[in-house]
Amino acid sequence: MSLRDGAVPGLPVETELPERVGVLVLGAGLAGCAALLAAAEAGRYALLLEKTGEIGGSTVKSAGLSAFAGTDEQAEQGIADSVDLMRKDLLEVGKGRNDPALVDLYCEHQLDAHRWLKGHGVRYGEIHAASGQSAPRSHPADTTRMLELLLKAAGELGARIMCDAPAARLLHDGSRVTGVRLADGREVRADAVVLATGGFSMNPELLAAFAPQMEHALRQGGDGNEGDGLKMAMALGAGLRDTPYIKGTYGHYYTEHPDEDGTGVLAVYKGAIAVNREGRRFVDESKNYKEIGDAALAQPGVTTWQVFDARTMAQANDEVPIYGFGGRERAGMLLKADTIAALEAAIGLPEGSLRRTVAEYNAAIEQGRPDPFGRARLSGGVGRPAPIDRPPFYAHPSGTVVLATYCGLTVDTRMRVLDWWGDPIGRLYAAGEITGGFHGAGYMTGTSIGKSGVFGRLAGRNAAAEESELQW
Ligand SMILES: Cc1cc2nc3c(=O)[nH]c(=O)nc-3n(C[C@H](O)[C@H](O)[C@H](O)COP(=O)(O)OP(=O)(O)OC[C@H]3O[C@@H](n4cnc5c(N)ncnc54)[C@H](O)[C@@H]3O)c2cc1C
Repeated sequence: MSLRDGAVPGLPVETELPERVGVLVLGAGLAGCAALLAAAEAGRYALLLEKTGEIGGSTVKSAGLSAFAGTDEQAEQGIADSVDLMRKDLLEVGKGRNDPALVDLYCEHQLDAHRWLKGHGVRYGEIHAASGQSAPRSHPADTTRMLELLLKAAGELGARIMCDAPAARLLHDGSRVTGVRLADGREVRADAVVLATGGFSMNPELLAAFAPQMEHALRQGGDGNEGDGLKMAMALGAGLRDTPYIKGTYGHYYTEHPDEDGTGVLAVYKGAIAVNREGRRFVDESKNYKEIGDAALAQPGVTTWQVFDARTMAQANDEVPIYGFGGRERAGMLLKADTIAALEAAIGLPEGSLRRTVAEYNAAIEQGRPDPFGRARLSGGVGRPAPIDRPPFYAHPSGTVVLATYCGLTVDTRMRVLDWWGDPIGRLYAAGEITGGFHGAGYMTGTSIGKSGVFGRLAGRNAAAEESELQW
């Protein structure tokens, strides 16, 4: 969606930068839009500055899945889930490295935030299970529509948004943040500032600093997601959490392609094997797609192939992006052949290599021998591996992509940014992908969008509770 060409009528766009506002929000993804609306609902004059000419950041490029537990939608689909089960899953997936206070905060507020979003008109589709969830809790929504609804509601309460307004520095008077300087030198004062500038998946320099293992990974995210807010807060001494745990996602088409929607495909979860350029397997393909992503990055040349047969193709489902193999075949993104030998040649693998790998794989399954990589299931605890023997055969060139950075500023349960000593930096709040501490060492699908909505709302509300110097 583009604000510049007026494609979205009714959004509260501002062109003149005011001198002073109540709550100043930076970044127009879900965290920023939720914060803006919450601040406006609390009765404060709120302004959102967006760096680029368009709203949405990574939020509108995402698959739109939010992790919520105990919802009406789950009940309607007969899904048994609970907040306690989600808390247990979050701590397990995070390998105990997450801040339990933030996990508790999410668990405490997620259902309320979900209802709040629905109250503003957001609608969720069919729920399905995904990585790290012991009950299906990925709630899909149209995130572009979601932001549009939140912004319009905020506008009705007097809030405003300015695009092409990149914040460059936080202003600080020695005890608190007092406003922001834009890249063009203009300044705006505020009673409180909320950083919602997203992650740094589009900044190779920061990725090299925090995640050198991602040097050869593909990158995807909002064009403006270069870690500006992170740098601005670090300049004031902000602490960081979870930086060692940046992961990429496996299954992305190996190069840019107009039909690559960003999420890739995971034919491995329906029976494919993953092979490297030597034609060898390199991982237990039933693992979490982040772990497969790490393993793929360690392979020579980085590009790998998901190899499968007609049995897997029969399970294609264009409604679920990661199983959209059919769509990818139509888009010309798959290599296809009647024999494994021909597929091997089409990929350009060493002669005999793929034939040997597939023959060994099939023989182990048929003879009931343990898989050398420990693969016993297809995905998590579900599905059994089957031989790859039904023509035609397919290969999807697959790489690892950094979609989000899952780490960032240290915050407390009021979403106040903390310095390295654990003290709040006065009147500075943060929410969304810019924050660390919630995910810990692993990532449950749906918790990036989830935390942007849940914590963005809390950040806006708490920032609005700061004492005001503004009459309006
Ligand atoms: C392809 C893809 C699929 C994904 N799928 C999912 C999914 O299904 N579920 C899930 O939970 N997560 C998913 N994610 C991750 C998720 O989308 C993000 O983590 C989340 O949307 C981040 O929201 P945010 O509001 O923090 O940041 P963003 O939505 O990225 O918004 C940040 C905004 O801040 C702006 N900005 C940056 N710097 C400045 C500055 N200096 N001044 C002003 N503005 C600035 C940016 O331009 C951007 O508009 C996916 C990501 C991608 C790329």
